[in-house]
Amino acid sequence: MNTLFLRYLTEMQNKGRLKFYENHSLSLVSTFGIGGRARVFVMPRDEECFKDTVRLASICGRYIVIGNASNLLFDDRGFCGTVISTVKLRSLELLLSPRSREEGIVFEGCRERRIIKASCGVMLPALSAFALKNGIKGFEGLCSIPATVGGALCLNAGAYGTEISDMLVAYEVFFPQNDEKRLIISDKKEFSYRKSSVGKQGETVLYAYFLAQKGDEAQIRERIEKNKAFRQASQPIGERSAGSYFKRPNESEGLPDFRGKSAGEIIDICGLKGTAVGEAQISRKHGNFLINKSGKATACEVLALAERVKKAVYKRTRIRLKEEVEFIHRLGKGR
Ligand SMILES: Cc1cc2nc3c(=O)[nH]c(=O)nc-3n(C[C@H](O)[C@H](O)[C@H](O)COP(=O)(O)OP(=O)(O)OC[C@H]3O[C@@H](n4cnc5c(N)ncnc54)[C@H](O)[C@@H]3O)c2cc1C
Repeated sequence: MNTLFLRYLTEMQNKGRLKFYENHSLSLVSTFGIGGRARVFVMPRDEECFKDTVRLASICGRYIVIGNASNLLFDDRGFCGTVISTVKLRSLELLLSPRSREEGIVFEGCRERRIIKASCGVMLPALSAFALKNGIKGFEGLCSIPATVGGALCLNAGAYGTEISDMLVAYEVFFPQNDEKRLIISDKKEFSYRKSSVGKQGETVLYAYFLAQKGDEAQIRERIEKNKAFRQASQPIGERSAGSYFKRPNESEGLPDFRGKSAGEIIDICGLKGTAVGEAQISRKHGNFLINKSGKATACEVLALAERVKKAVYKRTRIRLKEEVEFIHRLGKGR
């Protein structure tokens, strides 16, 4: 690791502006509880320090920015570079008037006179609870997704008929290549089911701005309680997983009997619940949750199990399941 980068990290840590670890186990930070060691793992605490860390890491070699690592399967061999986590970037506020040029532009383009501004590391349950406290509707479906705002924007996360892009007005990103910060007005065309253009050009999400529409507090609370109860009843809460492993198949794909069904339903019909490879297992409660049974599963076992599921499902249904969970190879994304 570059000594200048390490010196920068040490200096910033001494000032309390970040926390970093060398050879940090990624199994400790991912919801799957799987992964080898990252050469350096950094958690910046403020925007300037975050941008500087990303810029320097990009100059020094391989790096990735992660949120709560709730959609990631890390390589058993770890990550050969810097992993930058946003989980300490948690500012969340209700804006009633703009305080900067960027906020002015957001207000101009928005019919509401109130806007929620969230840092990329704010957790969705915290965003949903903040909205409830302020009588703001539209965030109820996000109440129990264990994701950060940044990670959720990159995947257009959602549940129970709500997607994070529904309330999104704009977001601020940082391009480390040219040290540029940019405000982007949200465009619905950039988002579809678990798909988004955010983060695909090497940019890092800094902030998101959301519509703050007034709602009935009792109704908001009721919807949140209902969503939480439904999740509790239908998903293996408490098990280590990365949520739904496969995307919902395209409605026109496969044999007629299976069209329009969710990946979980299809896996269930194929009789695969409970199937295991080593310590990786398909949950008996929900067919689309691959779980780390004992906490000792490896990425290799999860990948082998996923292949087994895909083959069995294709044989029976002619549907090709596609992964929602992202595998992070030790040399970086997309390998
Ligand atoms: C128990 C459980 C339940 C779940 N339920 C749901 C659900 O109901 N609906 C749903 O949609 N998902 C669900 N998920 C999956 C997961 O929470 C989402 O996919 C979420 O969007 C991932 O967010 P994250 O912060 O954990 O991002 P990570 O998993 O850390 O990262 C995801 C991607 O975003 C990138 N990224 C993260 N932050 C930034 C940033 N600031 N700038 C640039 N790139 C960034 C990463 O590089 C990576 O490519 C569930 C997961 C679990 C474990």
